[in-house]
Amino acid sequence: MKILAILYNGFKAAEEEPRLLGTVENKLGLEDWLKSQGHELIVSSDKEGPDSVFQKNIVDAEVLITTPFHPGYLTRELFDKAKNLKICITAGVGSDHIDLNAAVDHKIQVLEVSGSNVVSVAEHVVMSILLLVRNFIPAHEMIERGDWQVSDIARNAFDLENKVIGTIGAGRIGYRVLQRLVPFDPKELIYYDYAPLPAAAAEAVKARRVEDLKEFVSQCDVVTVNCPLHEGTRGLVNDELLSHFKKGAWLVNTARGAICDKDAVARALASGQLAGYSGDVWDVQPAPKDHVWRKAKNPLGGGNGMVPHYSGTTLDAQARYANGVRSILENYLSGKPQEPQNIIIGLGKYETKAYGQR
Ligand code: NAD
Repeated sequence: MKILAILYNGFKAAEEEPRLLGTVENKLGLEDWLKSQGHELIVSSDKEGPDSVFQKNIVDAEVLITTPFHPGYLTRELFDKAKNLKICITAGVGSDHIDLNAAVDHKIQVLEVSGSNVVSVAEHVVMSILLLVRNFIPAHEMIERGDWQVSDIARNAFDLENKVIGTIGAGRIGYRVLQRLVPFDPKELIYYDYAPLPAAAAEAVKARRVEDLKEFVSQCDVVTVNCPLHEGTRGLVNDELLSHFKKGAWLVNTARGAICDKDAVARALASGQLAGYSGDVWDVQPAPKDHVWRKAKNPLGGGNGMVPHYSGTTLDAQARYANGVRSILENYLSGKPQEPQNIIIGLGKYETKAYGQR
């Protein structure tokens, strides 16, 4: 059987650190096991264009493994060419780089390692909220420059205590973010999600659901985005929605870059409508060198907490999603049923309720 994996290069780091499992070099720890069973494993980071390893090998691969950190974009056109493909496995969480509607039409399953990096991301969200609200990055940059002017930092630094913090999406990550924010004594925690939290879960974090998105954002000092990217969330945070934000709100997006309109966010930051924007996800990845989010700033020259896509690929997370990919493969190879929570697309239908209301 031919198994194709599109992963990111680790280069020297992957040679020195074997726990960087999700790299081309370390192959999710699958190589010896798959080879011992006589399978062919092709691993590459080369994913763009018709001559890429990805596009050349997708035509006869039976299993495709991809990762959201270096997404192999599986378009409908590539599905049409992928004559042997049976299953797509996402090493991580978030399969929007696969055309899921095309997967339904082609009866190709799509699975994720659900839950594998949700704590990793929730911790990054809390860190990102804090670094924006407390104006941390300009403060650190000042120190590296050799300067010292406390008032230039303090004029835009606040406490998280007594702020209203809201999450768009209160699934595994969104809920864990809410749990981790409780000890900061926010004024209120609120959420926007078509799936209400179970009453006991909402009560445990004292989160209030707001059903109208504009009303929701207008109440938040901090908005964090934690929903999947699908037809209903692409470009959700645009000029119009940003105009309903509180002036000077902070926005954190570790969900997917394309949920936020990049130019609208940069404009809102430049005008001071947003005091800060932070996250690790970009549309597309790797982000082009001239992507507007690399250098976008608020009127005081700060408010940018952008990093490359790594919140969900800590070494702890890599161990979990590498194990998860292996167990999905074991189930597939032995004909055992898959864990229901990992199935995004089953044979010809959406099994998850998280990728939009259908
Ligand atoms: P989940 O399935 O547990 O939760 C997603 C929640 O979003 C669900 O409650 C769903 O009802 C809600 N939702 C869907 N569409 C919505 C909409 N239009 N408005 C409001 N809520 C909506 O998923 P999760 O594990 O919490 O992960 C969420 C997303 O985070 C993933 O799909 C992925 O895109 C992203 N993610 C990023 C990283 C990273 O490294 N940056 C890592 C893991 C996941």
